Amino acid sequence: MRAVCWFGTKDIRVEDVPEPRIVNPRDAIVQVTATAICGSDLHLVNGYIPTMQAGDIMGHEFMGEIVEVGSRVTRVKVGDRVVVPFTIACGKCEHCTDGRTSLCENTNPNAWMAEKLFGHSGSGLFGYSHMTGGYAGGQAEYVRVPHADIGCCKVPDSLSDEQVLFLSDIFPTGYMAAENAQIKQGDVVAVWGCGPVGQFVIKSAFMLGAEKVIAIDRLPARLALAARSGAVTVNYEEHVLQDALLSLTDGRGPDSCIDAVGLEAHGHGAAFAYDKVKQQLRMETDRPYALRQAIIYCKGGGTVSIPGVYGGFLDKMPFGALMNKGLTIKTGQTDMHRYMEPLLQRIEAGDIDPSFIITHRGSLDDAPQLYKTFMSKHEGCVKCVMKPGASLKHADGEPAIM
Ligand code: NAD
Ligand code: ZN
Ligand code: ZN
Repeated sequence: MRAVCWFGTKDIRVEDVPEPRIVNPRDAIVQVTATAICGSDLHLVNGYIPTMQAGDIMGHEFMGEIVEVGSRVTRVKVGDRVVVPFTIACGKCEHCTDGRTSLCENTNPNAWMAEKLFGHSGSGLFGYSHMTGGYAGGQAEYVRVPHADIGCCKVPDSLSDEQVLFLSDIFPTGYMAAENAQIKQGDVVAVWGCGPVGQFVIKSAFMLGAEKVIAIDRLPARLALAARSGAVTVNYEEHVLQDALLSLTDGRGPDSCIDAVGLEAHGHGAAFAYDKVKQQLRMETDRPYALRQAIIYCKGGGTVSIPGVYGGFLDKMPFGALMNKGLTIKTGQTDMHRYMEPLLQRIEAGDIDPSFIITHRGSLDDAPQLYKTFMSKHEGCVKCVMKPGASLKHADGEPAIM
């Protein structure tokens, strides 16, 4: 089968690889009909997440049709159309029964690797390094889904792939980030990053009662999309961000600040130069430029929610601001299984159509080009979706663009 594989930093290739097989009675094999590229994949491509191996299959946002099930799969069956969450959960351990499925204790066979870095391991993840289990990802024609009964979310035929695909990660991720921001009716929420995750954070913050959402980025197409969702936008290259936030909040600062940027933040001045140099010399693993701002600009007593991914050790964290302002920090990989069904119901009810973020489409063979476009964020790129099997190329060989 065809699959999108990682071969090293900035080296993504589409290869012929063996098809997956059932290896555990609770597995299912899913024939992938749609799969997306995530900002988290860029951290892999740029070499910031350790324990990737040449040939690893990428992808943790995917859906498709079940074509085979193991002998102990009972809830889903061959022919079901399902969305699969990026975190793999057993459904039975202490964390799973508490709803914290991203911390499942049973699905990372390489937990020892994560324990060395983090003290304890989270759940296994699809297509996201050997430290999170070394599971083959879903940017492929077929994928093995462990614990299929727990993960697979059945979707109705009345909704298209593009409407439900983002239940696999970024819609629940945006929603959990907004929930973590502890928004009260009438609050002002500031969101750093208007990428796909930021866009769902904005929608979710309004769903949870925010009165004003301030969306921060520098890319006009993404800011325009945020504005269409009702956010007040601030281009941080055109304004002094702290002044803008104070004037939009009557001098008080946002009640909640959400970092939807993560470890590859862009920035200006001495702080950004410091991060860039130290990250390149491997003396600091992450560039927490946006996170520092979120902490410093947040109103006293407020909450900082961090869906953005961080991998290791961060420098110059303003811990004094955190402590002296009594801020709350909430973060985590998304506890996917808690959100998929309720958010599917929101889509069915017509409250939201998640396909609004898709700007680029292609086939699996277009992956190297789509990765480049998503990385550069040129052509107004917000989100790329690939449809294995479908050849969506124009006659001139260029990927189809909406
Ligand atoms: P993306 O790279 O498409 O978007 C990031 C956005 O941040 C870009 O629009 C960029 O211009 C903007 N940005 C960069 N520096 C900034 C700054 N200083 N201030 C404001 N904006 C800035 O990525 P994405 O797909 O939206 O993902 C965002 C983050 O969320 C990534 O770190 C990703 O790994 C993470 N993520 C986490 C989870 C989870 O479970 N917690 C799930 C999915 C994605
Ligand atoms: Zn993702
Ligand atoms: Zn579990």
